[in-house]
Order: sequence, then C-alpha cells, then structure tokens
Amino acid sequence: MEFAHLPHPALTPHDVRTTAIANPGFGTVFTDHMVSIDYDEENGGWYSATLGPRMPISLDPAAAVLHYAQEIFEGMKAYRLPDGAMALFRPDANAHRFNASADRLAMPHLPEDLFIEAVRRLVMADSEWFPPVEGGSLYLRPFMFATEAFLGVRPAKQYKFLVIASAAGNYFKSGVPAVSLWTSEYTRAAPGGTGAAKCGGNYAASLVPTGQAFANGYDQVLFLDAVERKWVEELGGMNLFFVFDDGRVITPPLTGTILPGITRDSLITLLREEGLEVAEERYSIDQWREDAGTGRLLETFACGTAAVVTPVGKVSGKDGEFVIGSGGPGQLTSRIRERLVGIQRGTIADTHGWVMRLG
Ligand SMILES: *Cc1c(COP(=O)(O)O)cnc(C)c1O
Repeated sequence: MEFAHLPHPALTPHDVRTTAIANPGFGTVFTDHMVSIDYDEENGGWYSATLGPRMPISLDPAAAVLHYAQEIFEGMKAYRLPDGAMALFRPDANAHRFNASADRLAMPHLPEDLFIEAVRRLVMADSEWFPPVEGGSLYLRPFMFATEAFLGVRPAKQYKFLVIASAAGNYFKSGVPAVSLWTSEYTRAAPGGTGAAKCGGNYAASLVPTGQAFANGYDQVLFLDAVERKWVEELGGMNLFFVFDDGRVITPPLTGTILPGITRDSLITLLREEGLEVAEERYSIDQWREDAGTGRLLETFACGTAAVVTPVGKVSGKDGEFVIGSGGPGQLTSRIRERLVGIQRGTIADTHGWVMRLG
C-alpha cells in the first residue's frame, strides 16, 4: 500500500521539544506525527494510509467503539543502537499478536507487513523525539477501533488504525526497585473470555482492582485465576516468572486467560540459553507463600515492554504479607534484565534476529 505523506503545518518548536524530552516520564510527551489507515469492509478493505501531523480525530457519536468497545492495541518501543540508528524489537511478534487480538474482537486483520511499515514510518519521521536520557526510548502505540455509526450489536464494517508515539524515559529513575503486589479479589479474565487479547476493555476492568492495590499501599495488582481463585496468573500489564534454588524457573502457561507477552516469550528463550529449565506450569499462591518461606523460591519477577523486567519484593495474601528472597532485586532478575536490555539496545549480539534496524 502506498503511504501518502501529508505536509506538516506546525512542527513543535525545537526548544519546546528539547525541554519535553529531557525528562519525558511515560505516556504524556507525544511526538509530532501519526500514521492513519482506514478500513471499509464494503469498499475493498484497507485504504488511505497516511503519515501526517498528530491531531484530534472526529468520530460520529454512534461510532461502535464508543458503545461496545471494539478496540485493540499494541505496545512496543523503538531503541537507538550504538551507531545512532533506530531499531524495533520483534515487531513481527507485535503485528502477529495484533491480528490474534483482532480475531477475538471480531475485527479485520491488518497485513503484518503493513503494521510494521506503519510503525517504521512513524519512528523515522519522529526520531528527533528520541529522549537523550539513559534508558530512554520511543514508546509506540498502534491501535484499531470501530468507527462505523450504528447501535446494533454486530461487528462493525468500518475501522481506523492509528499509530502514535511518545517519548519515554527510564521507567525507574534510579536502579530497579522491587515492587509490592496486592492480591485482588477481582479477576482479570475468565476461561473463554478476552484475557489473551490486548484490548482496552481488559484494562477498563483492571482499574478498580489497581486502585485498591494503591489504596492499600501496594505498587501493582496481582490477579489469580477466575475459577479456583488460587492459581497465579499475571499483573495488570505484566507476566510473572518464579526462580527456584534448583535452577528451575516457572511461568504460568498460556491457557487463554493470560496475555502472551513478547517479553515473556523472549525471556523463556534467554533463560533456557543460560542453562535454566523453564516450565510453563500453573503455580498457586499458597505454594508461592510456602516456597518463599522455606527459601526454595529465590526470586520472582514481572516483565513487559514498558518496565522490561521488574523484581517482586513482597506479596499480600489472605494470611498477611510474604517477602521474596531479601525483598530486593535478585541476581538472576538483574542479570536477565541486563541481557535483554543489551540485545534491544544493540550492546549485546542479537543471535535470534530479534532486532530490526530501521533506515
Ligand atoms: C501487554 C501486556 C503484557 C506484556 O506484554 P509484552 O509484549 O511483553 O509487552 C502482559 N500482560 C498484559 C495484560 C498486557 O496487556
């Protein structure tokens, strides 16, 4: 598909941009451009791919997304390699997962090469927004939603795909602190539900449990399975790994209620290369507490694109709180984080073909 490049009317002044990206935080400093592609089932599918200025969009008040939440998204980062070139990490995996999410929400597929091309064009247009800070990146948000104006309950026939970007600083200002988890009475996803799809609706449902975690003084919410309320699933937006003293590592299996993280998948590969035995296996909160108590469990970490690898220090449960290891970052957690970050930023050899150099 040909991309139209719209002229840019008002670039952010250089000094305003420089100030904004010096301390960008996360999710508030947006770049100048966006990519937009439209879809009409009755008009041949995808059309009108454009790279243009980032600007508000107008929607009919009856647009299906506003009523029945047909919306999916991805989260990925562009990194700068040591020679200054921009790079994406496993964008094919994001493109593939995007279509898996589309299937679950009865939305059309976007060709995977078009997804990657859209992201590539935006990164190239806005590379000057790359924050000049340690651990900085351009956070990319591809998403798709139903635009057709109707109130009947059926899949929409019209959609919009957009990609926006925002400058992201180091998620953690100094070092990587261990997070505390609040075990929620709410569940995130039931068998047969949308837990494996990256859709906005899952996040809307996680806001109250996350608010409870904060209100109780915890950093993140931990979700258990919806049937037995005992198997550890994941956090609001991160997958979990458990590290044992015998060289075994467990991560919960992808049974449909867990989001198949690309960080999770990459870490399984890297941990196995380190000689560890990684099992995708159910793990209960009671066993977790017991293993933390006996010292059989050495470390627990959470992982996802935004925070990469984050140690878990303590967990709330129905019988009070328990601490993991020393309560701080474990050795394997720190080592595997350095390894992944090094591959993403091109300081460690990419032996898996995960890094896609742009331009
Ligand atoms: C996006 C997401 C993750 C992490 O996936 P990555 O591909 O590693 O960024 C984990 N859990 C949930 C619920 C998510 O939405």
